[in-house]
Amino acid sequence: MSSFYVTTPIYYVNAAPHLGHAYTTIAVDVMARHHRQRGEDVFFLTGTDEHGEPVADAAKAQGLEPKELADRNAERFRALMPRLGVSNDYFIRTSDPRHGAKVQEVLQRVHDNGHVYKGLYEGWYCPRCADFKVENEIAEGNRCPIHEIELVRQQEENWFFRLSTFQKDLERLYADQPDFVMPRERFNEAKAFIDSGLQDISLSRGRLTWGVVVPWDPTHVFYVWFDALLNYYTALSFARDGEDLTDRFWPATFHVIGKDILKFHTVFWPAMLLAAGIPLPEHVFVHGFLLGADGRKMSKSLGNVLDPFEVIDRYGTEALRYYLLRDVTFGADGSTSFDAVRARYEGELANELGNLASRTIAMITRYRDGALPEAELDPSIVAEFDGLPDQVSALMDRAELTQALETIWQRVRRLNRYVEEQAPWQLAKDDARAGDLDRVLRTLAEGLRAVIVLLSPWLPESSVKLLDALGTPDLALSGAALDGGRVQRVSPLEPLFPKPS
Ligand SMILES: [Zn+2]
Repeated sequence: MSSFYVTTPIYYVNAAPHLGHAYTTIAVDVMARHHRQRGEDVFFLTGTDEHGEPVADAAKAQGLEPKELADRNAERFRALMPRLGVSNDYFIRTSDPRHGAKVQEVLQRVHDNGHVYKGLYEGWYCPRCADFKVENEIAEGNRCPIHEIELVRQQEENWFFRLSTFQKDLERLYADQPDFVMPRERFNEAKAFIDSGLQDISLSRGRLTWGVVVPWDPTHVFYVWFDALLNYYTALSFARDGEDLTDRFWPATFHVIGKDILKFHTVFWPAMLLAAGIPLPEHVFVHGFLLGADGRKMSKSLGNVLDPFEVIDRYGTEALRYYLLRDVTFGADGSTSFDAVRARYEGELANELGNLASRTIAMITRYRDGALPEAELDPSIVAEFDGLPDQVSALMDRAELTQALETIWQRVRRLNRYVEEQAPWQLAKDDARAGDLDRVLRTLAEGLRAVIVLLSPWLPESSVKLLDALGTPDLALSGAALDGGRVQRVSPLEPLFPKPS
Protein backbone atom coordinates (compact mmCIF):
# COMPACT_ATOMS: atom_id res chain seq x y z
CA MET A 1 0.00 0.00 0.00
CA SER A 2 1.43 3.38 -0.88
CA SER A 3 1.67 6.00 1.83
CA PHE A 4 0.61 9.62 1.65
CA TYR A 5 1.89 12.00 4.30
CA VAL A 6 0.55 15.55 4.15
CA THR A 7 1.11 18.47 6.51
CA THR A 8 -0.14 21.97 7.21
CA PRO A 9 2.34 24.48 8.55
CA ILE A 10 2.15 24.53 12.31
CA TYR A 11 0.34 27.65 13.42
CA TYR A 12 2.00 30.26 15.51
CA VAL A 13 0.14 30.40 18.82
CA ASN A 14 0.36 34.15 19.17
CA ALA A 15 -2.31 34.78 16.56
CA ALA A 16 -5.98 33.92 16.97
CA PRO A 17 -7.24 31.40 14.40
CA HIS A 18 -8.40 33.23 11.27
CA LEU A 19 -9.38 32.58 7.67
CA GLY A 20 -5.82 31.85 6.55
CA HIS A 21 -5.46 29.01 9.05
CA ALA A 22 -8.85 27.62 8.07
CA TYR A 23 -7.93 27.77 4.39
CA THR A 24 -4.70 25.79 4.58
CA THR A 25 -6.15 23.27 7.00
CA ILE A 26 -9.26 22.63 4.89
CA ALA A 27 -7.16 22.23 1.74
CA VAL A 28 -4.93 19.66 3.40
CA ASP A 29 -7.98 17.86 4.77
CA VAL A 30 -9.42 17.60 1.26
CA MET A 31 -6.16 16.09 0.05
CA ALA A 32 -6.00 13.63 2.95
CA ARG A 33 -9.60 12.52 2.47
CA HIS A 34 -9.13 12.06 -1.26
CA HIS A 35 -6.07 9.86 -0.76
CA ARG A 36 -7.89 7.81 1.88
CA GLN A 37 -10.57 7.19 -0.78
CA ARG A 38 -7.84 5.76 -2.95
CA GLY A 39 -7.06 3.22 -0.27
CA GLU A 40 -3.69 4.77 0.52
CA ASP A 41 -2.06 4.76 3.93
CA VAL A 42 -2.60 8.40 4.89
CA PHE A 43 -1.19 10.52 7.68
CA PHE A 44 -2.33 14.13 8.09
CA LEU A 45 -0.45 16.34 10.52
CA THR A 46 -1.24 19.78 11.85
CA GLY A 47 -0.40 21.59 15.08
CA THR A 48 1.05 24.64 16.74
CA ASP A 49 4.41 26.40 16.72
CA GLU A 50 4.96 27.60 20.26
CA HIS A 51 8.53 28.74 20.85
CA GLY A 52 10.37 31.96 20.09
CA GLU A 53 10.55 35.56 21.04
CA PRO A 54 7.03 36.70 20.09
CA VAL A 55 5.44 34.16 22.46
CA ALA A 56 7.92 34.96 25.23
CA ASP A 57 7.21 38.69 24.82
CA ALA A 58 3.44 38.30 24.73
CA ALA A 59 3.48 36.06 27.80
CA LYS A 60 5.60 38.56 29.70
CA ALA A 61 3.23 41.37 28.80
CA GLN A 62 0.36 39.36 30.27
CA GLY A 63 2.29 38.29 33.35
CA LEU A 64 2.33 34.64 32.30
CA GLU A 65 4.94 31.97 31.76
CA PRO A 66 5.39 31.28 28.03
CA LYS A 67 4.13 27.72 28.50
CA GLU A 68 0.91 28.98 30.10
CA LEU A 69 0.23 31.27 27.17
CA ALA A 70 1.09 28.51 24.71
CA ASP A 71 -1.25 26.05 26.46
CA ARG A 72 -4.11 28.50 26.33
CA ASN A 73 -3.63 29.48 22.70
CA ALA A 74 -2.83 26.02 21.37
CA GLU A 75 -6.22 24.94 22.67
CA ARG A 76 -7.93 27.43 20.37
CA PHE A 77 -6.24 25.88 17.37
CA ARG A 78 -6.99 22.36 18.50
CA ALA A 79 -10.65 23.34 18.91
CA LEU A 80 -10.65 24.77 15.39
CA MET A 81 -10.16 21.35 13.76
CA PRO A 82 -13.58 19.80 14.49
CA ARG A 83 -15.29 23.09 13.61
CA LEU A 84 -13.74 22.85 10.15
CA GLY A 85 -14.68 19.19 9.79
CA VAL A 86 -11.00 18.35 9.62
CA SER A 87 -9.72 14.76 9.95
CA ASN A 88 -6.13 15.30 11.10
CA ASP A 89 -4.38 12.19 12.39
CA TYR A 90 -2.35 14.09 14.95
CA PHE A 91 -1.96 17.55 16.42
CA ILE A 92 1.64 18.36 17.33
CA ARG A 93 2.70 21.05 19.79
CA THR A 94 6.34 22.07 19.62
CA SER A 95 6.46 22.61 23.40
CA ASP A 96 6.01 18.84 23.71
CA PRO A 97 9.23 17.55 25.29
CA ARG A 98 9.25 14.56 22.92
CA HIS A 99 9.49 17.00 20.03
CA GLY A 100 12.30 18.88 21.76
CA ALA A 101 14.29 15.71 22.36
CA LYS A 102 14.02 14.71 18.71
CA VAL A 103 14.98 18.22 17.53
CA GLN A 104 18.10 17.97 19.69
CA GLU A 105 18.92 14.57 18.26
CA VAL A 106 18.60 15.70 14.64
CA LEU A 107 20.44 19.00 15.05
CA GLN A 108 23.20 17.34 17.07
CA ARG A 109 23.71 15.18 14.00
CA VAL A 110 23.88 18.31 11.82
CA HIS A 111 26.51 19.65 14.25
CA ASP A 112 28.47 16.39 14.26
CA ASN A 113 28.39 16.30 10.46
CA GLY A 114 30.33 19.58 10.50
CA HIS A 115 27.61 21.95 9.30
CA VAL A 116 27.58 24.25 12.34
CA TYR A 117 29.94 26.96 13.63
CA LYS A 118 29.88 29.85 16.06
CA GLY A 119 29.95 33.40 14.70
CA LEU A 120 28.75 36.92 15.02
CA TYR A 121 25.59 37.87 13.24
CA GLU A 122 24.46 41.35 12.43
CA GLY A 123 21.46 42.14 10.32
CA TRP A 124 17.97 43.52 9.92
CA TYR A 125 15.52 41.55 11.96
CA CYS A 126 11.71 41.35 11.94
CA PRO A 127 10.56 40.35 15.43
CA ARG A 128 7.15 39.25 14.08
CA CYS A 129 8.70 36.93 11.47
CA ALA A 130 11.46 35.98 13.94
CA ASP A 131 13.69 36.26 10.90
CA PHE A 132 16.71 38.18 9.71
CA LYS A 133 16.02 39.68 6.29
CA VAL A 134 18.51 39.62 3.46
CA GLU A 135 18.83 42.57 1.14
CA ASN A 136 16.22 41.65 -1.48
CA GLU A 137 13.65 40.96 1.24
CA ILE A 138 13.64 44.42 2.73
CA ALA A 139 10.72 46.62 1.70
CA GLU A 140 10.78 50.37 1.29
CA GLY A 141 11.42 52.36 4.43
CA ASN A 142 13.49 49.48 5.81
CA ARG A 143 10.34 47.49 6.56
CA CYS A 144 9.29 43.86 6.68
CA PRO A 145 7.43 43.20 3.40
CA ILE A 146 5.01 40.91 5.24
CA HIS A 147 4.33 42.80 8.45
CA GLU A 148 5.09 46.28 7.14
CA ILE A 149 6.81 47.16 10.42
CA GLU A 150 10.26 48.69 10.65
CA LEU A 151 13.09 46.19 10.91
CA VAL A 152 15.44 46.25 13.88
CA ARG A 153 19.24 46.17 13.58
CA GLN A 154 20.45 43.27 15.68
CA GLN A 155 23.82 41.83 16.44
CA GLU A 156 24.46 38.65 18.34
CA GLU A 157 26.77 35.73 18.77
CA ASN A 158 25.04 32.71 17.32
CA TRP A 159 25.52 29.22 16.16
CA PHE A 160 25.38 29.25 12.40
CA PHE A 161 24.20 26.67 9.92
CA ARG A 162 26.42 26.42 6.84
CA LEU A 163 23.63 26.94 4.35
CA SER A 164 26.14 28.20 1.78
CA THR A 165 27.75 24.77 1.48
CA PHE A 166 24.43 23.41 0.16
CA GLN A 167 24.36 25.78 -2.80
CA LYS A 168 25.22 23.07 -5.34
CA ASP A 169 22.98 20.44 -3.73
CA LEU A 170 19.97 22.72 -3.86
CA GLU A 171 20.72 23.76 -7.43
CA ARG A 172 20.79 20.09 -8.34
CA LEU A 173 17.57 19.40 -6.44
CA TYR A 174 15.79 22.13 -8.39
CA ALA A 175 17.25 20.92 -11.67
CA ASP A 176 16.31 17.29 -11.04
CA GLN A 177 12.88 17.75 -9.44
CA PRO A 178 10.86 20.39 -11.25
CA ASP A 179 7.86 19.59 -9.07
CA PHE A 180 9.70 19.81 -5.75
CA VAL A 181 7.97 23.18 -5.35
CA MET A 182 4.52 23.76 -6.86
CA PRO A 183 3.00 25.69 -8.57
CA ARG A 184 5.62 26.72 -11.12
CA GLU A 185 5.62 30.39 -10.18
CA ARG A 186 6.66 29.49 -6.63
CA PHE A 187 9.29 27.06 -7.88
CA ASN A 188 10.80 29.94 -9.86
CA GLU A 189 10.70 32.20 -6.84
CA ALA A 190 12.51 29.66 -4.66
CA LYS A 191 15.03 28.91 -7.38
CA ALA A 192 15.75 32.61 -7.83
CA PHE A 193 16.47 32.89 -4.12
CA ILE A 194 18.93 30.01 -4.36
CA ASP A 195 20.51 31.34 -7.55
CA SER A 196 21.12 34.69 -5.88
CA GLY A 197 23.66 32.92 -3.63
CA LEU A 198 23.04 31.32 -0.25
CA GLN A 199 24.42 32.82 2.95
CA ASP A 200 24.87 30.98 6.22
CA ILE A 201 22.03 31.50 8.67
CA SER A 202 21.67 31.56 12.44
CA LEU A 203 20.70 28.33 14.01
CA SER A 204 20.42 29.54 17.59
CA ARG A 205 19.58 32.50 19.75
CA GLY A 206 21.61 33.39 22.83
CA ARG A 207 19.31 35.89 24.54
CA LEU A 208 16.29 33.68 24.65
CA THR A 209 15.29 30.81 26.92
CA TRP A 210 11.87 29.86 25.51
CA GLY A 211 12.91 27.24 23.01
CA VAL A 212 14.70 23.93 22.53
CA VAL A 213 18.09 24.04 24.25
CA VAL A 214 21.14 23.56 22.02
CA PRO A 215 22.63 20.31 23.35
CA TRP A 216 26.27 21.27 22.73
CA ASP A 217 25.79 24.80 24.16
CA PRO A 218 23.03 25.01 26.77
CA THR A 219 23.27 28.81 26.93
CA HIS A 220 21.51 28.89 23.56
CA VAL A 221 18.14 27.74 22.25
CA PHE A 222 17.52 26.79 18.63
CA TYR A 223 16.20 29.43 16.31
CA VAL A 224 12.45 28.86 16.37
CA TRP A 225 12.24 28.16 12.66
CA PHE A 226 14.43 25.06 12.79
CA ASP A 227 12.58 23.76 15.79
CA ALA A 228 9.30 24.41 13.96
CA LEU A 229 10.28 22.91 10.60
CA LEU A 230 11.43 19.74 12.26
CA ASN A 231 7.89 19.09 13.55
CA TYR A 232 7.09 17.38 10.26
CA TYR A 233 9.73 14.81 11.01
CA THR A 234 9.62 14.52 14.80
CA ALA A 235 5.85 14.02 15.07
CA LEU A 236 6.04 10.64 13.37
CA SER A 237 8.25 9.30 16.14
CA PHE A 238 5.71 9.91 18.93
CA ALA A 239 2.26 10.48 17.38
CA ARG A 240 1.29 6.89 18.24
CA ASP A 241 2.11 5.52 21.65
CA GLY A 242 4.66 2.75 21.49
CA GLU A 243 5.02 3.02 17.73
CA ASP A 244 7.42 4.93 15.50
CA LEU A 245 5.73 5.89 12.23
CA THR A 246 8.82 7.42 10.63
CA ASP A 247 9.64 4.51 8.30
CA ARG A 248 6.01 4.17 7.35
CA PHE A 249 5.40 7.81 6.35
CA TRP A 250 8.68 9.66 5.87
CA PRO A 251 9.48 11.36 3.50
CA ALA A 252 6.40 13.58 3.45
CA THR A 253 4.44 13.58 0.20
CA PHE A 254 3.21 17.18 0.47
CA HIS A 255 4.00 20.08 2.73
CA VAL A 256 1.27 22.65 2.05
CA ILE A 257 2.21 26.21 3.00
CA GLY A 258 1.33 29.83 2.35
CA LYS A 259 3.66 31.87 0.21
CA ASP A 260 4.86 34.00 3.16
CA ILE A 261 6.90 31.06 4.48
CA LEU A 262 8.26 29.87 1.16
CA LYS A 263 11.96 30.48 1.85
CA PHE A 264 11.97 28.40 5.02
CA HIS A 265 10.31 25.41 3.40
CA THR A 266 11.90 25.45 -0.02
CA VAL A 267 15.47 26.47 0.87
CA PHE A 268 16.33 26.11 4.56
CA TRP A 269 14.32 22.96 5.17
CA PRO A 270 15.78 20.79 2.39
CA ALA A 271 19.29 22.00 3.27
CA MET A 272 18.74 21.10 6.91
CA LEU A 273 17.50 17.65 6.00
CA LEU A 274 20.48 17.08 3.70
CA ALA A 275 22.78 18.15 6.53
CA ALA A 276 21.15 15.61 8.84
CA GLY A 277 21.13 12.85 6.21
CA ILE A 278 17.32 12.66 6.15
CA PRO A 279 15.48 12.09 2.83
CA LEU A 280 13.72 15.13 1.36
CA PRO A 281 9.94 15.58 1.08
CA GLU A 282 8.48 15.03 -2.38
CA HIS A 283 6.55 18.29 -2.82
CA VAL A 284 6.07 21.66 -1.22
CA PHE A 285 2.82 23.16 -2.44
CA VAL A 286 2.54 26.91 -1.96
CA HIS A 287 -0.91 28.45 -1.92
CA GLY A 288 -1.70 32.13 -2.39
CA PHE A 289 -3.25 34.74 -0.13
CA LEU A 290 -6.94 35.24 0.46
CA LEU A 291 -7.69 38.92 0.00
CA GLY A 292 -10.61 41.14 0.91
CA ALA A 293 -13.48 41.82 -1.48
CA ASP A 294 -11.61 44.93 -2.60
CA GLY A 295 -8.63 42.80 -3.63
CA ARG A 296 -6.51 44.24 -0.84
CA LYS A 297 -4.85 42.45 2.02
CA MET A 298 -7.45 41.77 4.72
CA SER A 299 -7.24 44.05 7.68
CA LYS A 300 -9.61 45.05 10.43
CA SER A 301 -9.07 48.72 9.68
CA LEU A 302 -10.15 48.26 6.04
CA GLY A 303 -13.22 46.31 7.19
CA ASN A 304 -12.65 43.70 4.47
CA VAL A 305 -12.03 40.64 6.65
CA LEU A 306 -14.02 37.48 5.93
CA ASP A 307 -14.63 35.78 9.28
CA PRO A 308 -14.71 31.99 8.80
CA PHE A 309 -16.78 31.53 11.96
CA GLU A 310 -19.49 33.85 10.66
CA VAL A 311 -19.65 31.75 7.50
CA ILE A 312 -19.87 28.55 9.55
CA ASP A 313 -22.57 29.98 11.81
CA ARG A 314 -24.73 31.07 8.89
CA TYR A 315 -24.12 28.47 6.19
CA GLY A 316 -22.32 25.62 7.91
CA THR A 317 -18.84 24.15 7.76
CA GLU A 318 -19.27 22.64 4.32
CA ALA A 319 -20.17 25.97 2.77
CA LEU A 320 -16.84 27.32 3.97
CA ARG A 321 -14.93 24.25 2.76
CA TYR A 322 -16.58 24.40 -0.64
CA TYR A 323 -16.38 28.15 -1.08
CA LEU A 324 -12.69 28.52 -0.26
CA LEU A 325 -11.56 25.90 -2.72
CA ARG A 326 -14.10 26.82 -5.38
CA ASP A 327 -13.95 30.59 -5.53
CA VAL A 328 -10.19 31.10 -5.26
CA THR A 329 -7.98 28.91 -7.43
CA PHE A 330 -5.82 26.94 -5.03
CA GLY A 331 -2.27 28.19 -5.55
CA ALA A 332 -3.24 31.73 -6.62
CA ASP A 333 -4.28 34.85 -4.70
CA GLY A 334 -7.95 35.72 -4.74
CA SER A 335 -10.48 38.03 -3.20
CA THR A 336 -13.16 36.75 -0.82
CA SER A 337 -16.40 38.12 0.54
CA PHE A 338 -19.49 37.08 2.43
CA ASP A 339 -21.60 37.90 -0.65
CA ALA A 340 -19.54 35.51 -2.72
CA VAL A 341 -20.06 32.80 -0.09
CA ARG A 342 -23.81 33.36 -0.27
CA ALA A 343 -23.77 33.22 -4.07
CA ARG A 344 -21.90 29.90 -4.11
CA TYR A 345 -24.08 28.47 -1.37
CA GLU A 346 -27.39 29.40 -2.92
CA GLY A 347 -26.43 29.10 -6.57
CA GLU A 348 -24.38 25.93 -6.49
CA LEU A 349 -24.66 23.94 -3.28
CA ALA A 350 -28.39 24.48 -2.77
CA ASN A 351 -29.70 24.99 -6.31
CA GLU A 352 -27.44 22.67 -8.24
CA LEU A 353 -26.26 19.84 -6.00
CA GLY A 354 -28.97 20.05 -3.34
CA ASN A 355 -31.73 20.19 -5.93
CA LEU A 356 -30.31 17.40 -8.00
CA ALA A 357 -30.21 15.19 -4.91
CA SER A 358 -33.69 16.05 -3.67
CA ARG A 359 -35.30 15.84 -7.13
CA THR A 360 -33.69 12.51 -7.92
CA ILE A 361 -34.77 10.96 -4.65
CA ALA A 362 -38.23 12.49 -4.80
CA MET A 363 -38.85 11.20 -8.34
CA ILE A 364 -37.68 7.69 -7.53
CA THR A 365 -39.94 7.75 -4.49
CA ARG A 366 -42.95 9.13 -6.33
CA TYR A 367 -42.73 7.13 -9.56
CA ARG A 368 -41.21 3.87 -8.35
CA ASP A 369 -41.99 3.71 -4.61
CA GLY A 370 -38.31 4.25 -3.85
CA ALA A 371 -37.11 1.07 -5.59
CA LEU A 372 -35.14 1.22 -8.83
CA PRO A 373 -36.10 -1.34 -11.47
CA GLU A 374 -33.40 -2.92 -13.63
CA ALA A 375 -32.42 -0.71 -16.57
CA GLU A 376 -29.42 0.11 -18.72
CA LEU A 377 -27.69 3.44 -18.02
CA ASP A 378 -28.01 6.17 -20.59
CA PRO A 379 -24.95 5.83 -22.86
CA SER A 380 -24.57 9.61 -23.32
CA ILE A 381 -24.13 10.09 -19.58
CA VAL A 382 -21.93 7.01 -19.28
CA ALA A 383 -19.63 8.50 -21.92
CA GLU A 384 -19.41 11.81 -20.09
CA PHE A 385 -18.48 10.15 -16.82
CA ASP A 386 -15.95 7.84 -18.43
CA GLY A 387 -12.52 8.15 -16.79
CA LEU A 388 -13.73 10.76 -14.31
CA PRO A 389 -12.17 9.26 -11.15
CA ASP A 390 -8.79 9.08 -12.91
CA GLN A 391 -9.06 12.67 -14.09
CA VAL A 392 -9.82 13.82 -10.57
CA SER A 393 -6.96 11.75 -9.14
CA ALA A 394 -4.50 13.18 -11.64
CA LEU A 395 -5.46 16.73 -10.67
CA MET A 396 -5.29 15.90 -6.97
CA ASP A 397 -1.81 14.44 -7.44
CA ARG A 398 -0.75 17.97 -8.36
CA ALA A 399 -2.82 19.51 -5.55
CA GLU A 400 -5.00 21.21 -8.16
CA LEU A 401 -7.95 21.22 -5.81
CA THR A 402 -9.96 23.89 -7.58
CA GLN A 403 -9.62 22.27 -10.99
CA ALA A 404 -10.57 18.88 -9.53
CA LEU A 405 -13.66 20.41 -7.96
CA GLU A 406 -14.61 22.11 -11.23
CA THR A 407 -14.18 18.84 -13.13
CA ILE A 408 -16.64 17.13 -10.80
CA TRP A 409 -19.02 20.08 -10.77
CA GLN A 410 -19.36 19.99 -14.56
CA ARG A 411 -21.00 16.59 -14.05
CA VAL A 412 -23.36 17.95 -11.41
CA ARG A 413 -24.47 20.50 -14.00
CA ARG A 414 -24.67 17.85 -16.71
CA LEU A 415 -27.01 15.76 -14.58
CA ASN A 416 -29.25 18.76 -13.97
CA ARG A 417 -29.45 19.38 -17.71
CA TYR A 418 -30.21 15.70 -18.17
CA VAL A 419 -33.22 16.03 -15.89
CA GLU A 420 -34.50 18.95 -17.98
CA GLU A 421 -33.83 17.19 -21.29
CA GLN A 422 -35.54 13.95 -20.26
CA ALA A 423 -38.39 15.53 -18.28
CA PRO A 424 -39.15 12.41 -16.21
CA TRP A 425 -42.44 13.98 -15.11
CA GLN A 426 -43.59 13.73 -18.73
CA LEU A 427 -42.38 10.16 -19.10
CA ALA A 428 -44.30 9.26 -15.94
CA LYS A 429 -47.58 10.19 -17.61
CA ASP A 430 -47.12 7.67 -20.40
CA ASP A 431 -47.19 3.98 -19.44
CA ALA A 432 -45.66 3.06 -22.79
CA ARG A 433 -42.53 4.92 -21.74
CA ALA A 434 -42.02 3.17 -18.39
CA GLY A 435 -38.74 1.69 -19.62
CA ASP A 436 -37.42 5.11 -20.55
CA LEU A 437 -38.35 6.43 -17.13
CA ASP A 438 -36.53 3.50 -15.48
CA ARG A 439 -33.43 4.29 -17.48
CA VAL A 440 -33.53 8.00 -16.64
CA LEU A 441 -34.06 7.41 -12.92
CA ARG A 442 -31.33 4.82 -12.74
CA THR A 443 -28.92 7.04 -14.65
CA LEU A 444 -29.67 9.95 -12.33
CA ALA A 445 -29.29 7.86 -9.17
CA GLU A 446 -26.02 6.44 -10.40
CA GLY A 447 -24.65 9.76 -11.61
CA LEU A 448 -25.56 11.37 -8.32
CA ARG A 449 -23.85 8.58 -6.43
CA ALA A 450 -20.68 8.99 -8.50
CA VAL A 451 -20.44 12.75 -8.07
CA ILE A 452 -21.06 12.65 -4.35
CA VAL A 453 -18.38 10.00 -3.83
CA LEU A 454 -15.96 12.27 -5.71
CA LEU A 455 -17.12 15.35 -3.79
CA SER A 456 -16.83 13.74 -0.38
CA PRO A 457 -13.40 15.24 0.45
CA TRP A 458 -14.93 18.73 0.10
CA LEU A 459 -18.33 17.86 1.52
CA PRO A 460 -17.73 14.99 3.94
CA GLU A 461 -20.96 15.32 5.95
CA SER A 462 -23.34 15.83 3.05
CA SER A 463 -21.79 12.90 1.21
CA VAL A 464 -22.47 10.57 4.09
CA LYS A 465 -26.08 11.75 4.31
CA LEU A 466 -26.68 11.44 0.61
CA LEU A 467 -24.94 8.10 0.21
CA ASP A 468 -27.02 6.84 3.12
CA ALA A 469 -30.18 7.93 1.34
CA LEU A 470 -28.97 6.08 -1.76
CA GLY A 471 -28.18 3.01 0.34
CA THR A 472 -24.57 2.94 -0.89
CA PRO A 473 -22.27 4.10 1.93
CA ASP A 474 -19.02 3.09 0.21
CA LEU A 475 -16.65 6.08 -0.25
CA ALA A 476 -13.90 4.24 -2.15
CA LEU A 477 -12.79 6.06 -5.25
CA SER A 478 -12.79 2.81 -7.21
CA GLY A 479 -16.57 2.88 -6.72
CA ALA A 480 -16.91 6.32 -8.28
CA ALA A 481 -17.17 4.92 -11.80
CA LEU A 482 -20.73 4.54 -13.08
CA ASP A 483 -22.12 1.12 -12.41
CA GLY A 484 -25.74 0.46 -13.15
CA GLY A 485 -26.44 -1.98 -10.37
CA ARG A 486 -25.39 -0.14 -7.26
CA VAL A 487 -28.33 1.95 -6.11
CA GLN A 488 -31.27 -0.35 -5.37
CA ARG A 489 -33.55 1.63 -3.13
CA VAL A 490 -33.60 5.20 -1.88
CA SER A 491 -34.79 6.59 1.41
CA PRO A 492 -35.92 10.11 2.34
CA LEU A 493 -33.32 12.86 2.51
CA GLU A 494 -33.44 16.08 4.50
CA PRO A 495 -32.40 19.11 2.42
CA LEU A 496 -28.59 19.03 2.26
CA PHE A 497 -28.18 22.80 2.01
CA PRO A 498 -31.22 24.42 3.61
CA LYS A 499 -31.96 28.13 3.55
CA PRO A 500 -30.27 29.63 6.58
CA SER A 501 -32.82 30.68 9.19
ZN1 LIG B 1 7.83 40.27 9.38
